[in-house]
Amino acid sequence: MTGGLPTAVRDRLGRPLRDLRISVTDRCNFRCRYCMPRETFGSEHAFLERDALLDFGELKEIASTAYELGVRKIRLTGGEPLMHRDICELVASLSSLPGLDLAMTSNGVLLPRYAESLAASGLRRVTVSLDSLEQATFEAMSDSRYQVQDVLDGIAAAERAGLGAVKINMVVKRGVNDSEIADMAARFRDTPHIVRFIEYMDVGSTNGWDASHVVPASEIVDAVRSRFPADVVDDSDRRAVATRFRYRDGRGEFGVISSVSKPFCSTCTRVRVSAEGTLYTCLFASAGLDLRAILRGRRTPGDLAAALTGRWASRDDRYSELRGSLQADRNNKIEMSYIGG
Ligand code: SAM
Ligand code: SF4
Ligand code: SF4
Repeated sequence: MTGGLPTAVRDRLGRPLRDLRISVTDRCNFRCRYCMPRETFGSEHAFLERDALLDFGELKEIASTAYELGVRKIRLTGGEPLMHRDICELVASLSSLPGLDLAMTSNGVLLPRYAESLAASGLRRVTVSLDSLEQATFEAMSDSRYQVQDVLDGIAAAERAGLGAVKINMVVKRGVNDSEIADMAARFRDTPHIVRFIEYMDVGSTNGWDASHVVPASEIVDAVRSRFPADVVDDSDRRAVATRFRYRDGRGEFGVISSVSKPFCSTCTRVRVSAEGTLYTCLFASAGLDLRAILRGRRTPGDLAAALTGRWASRDDRYSELRGSLQADRNNKIEMSYIGG
């Protein structure tokens, strides 16, 4: 054990396996332009059939195996995880792993329906995505008919259920919602919730990403600080992906995730499992390990653990650090809605 954590399997760059993200569905009730553009994910799109998805027994087996290998944090994501009707059953099953930090990322609009049951089933925390407080911009970015108020109601429901402080993810896209950075900070000052501004990333190959769409973290921080002076928090938890800033007047904090301008691959301890059971060791991977084939094939006890250990031990991913110089196949990357961010 080190620092209260069990010894974990390490990759080729010495990074331990600590975090698991599970995408429980590739479906979503939004069509965010930067994630599931309707041109690709429209009515013709073939979503995964139910029997192609991992069932909850299979997910529990993957989670338990990852836990044995050192994982202590699991985040449920999607697509939209609350589109899975039985999500609370999965939460209840995973929350029985002792000391596990079990969290979820959601677009929030179904939280008023589910927050209480999720908390009662053992969910600890929720992150809610909200890109704009302006209805027109929100609608354009999410390409949905939902209201900003629906998301705010979801955040309030999470707070009432004891799932706060809620982290609020805002993906910043130049010329689209960057004029709202300080307004978003203002909206959640004096609340227990923490806004995290995220640089728009080149995940997948359908969102038409271009470097000119990215607002670098430094510019985001300046936009907030010009209205609300704030100091960087010297974080001893080096695994945190967000750089934290605390307002000088003591009215809360915000975070910035600088995956493009200041990558954090050297501390990346995260593995992802897609809804159909493929394991990816990087958000920008184009190939993964088919865990479903292992789970549904002829096997002996220990095969899954050996496969996970082998894959993590051979990992040398650091896409974001190499982004500028990379010769990788940029058009064949896995889509965000399959691996959940
Ligand atoms: N549907 C849920 C939601 O939106 O919160 C969970 C899945 S979503 C893929 C997880 C996170 O990824 C969201 O906060 C979303 O804003 C973020 N995301 C999606 N595409 C992104 C991109 N191209 N760059 C940065 N963040 C992105
Ligand atoms: Fe759906 Fe989340 Fe992707 Fe938006 S970011 S389309 S809410 S999965
Ligand atoms: Fe981790 Fe890959 Fe992102 Fe680097 S680019 S932080 S290795 S997921």
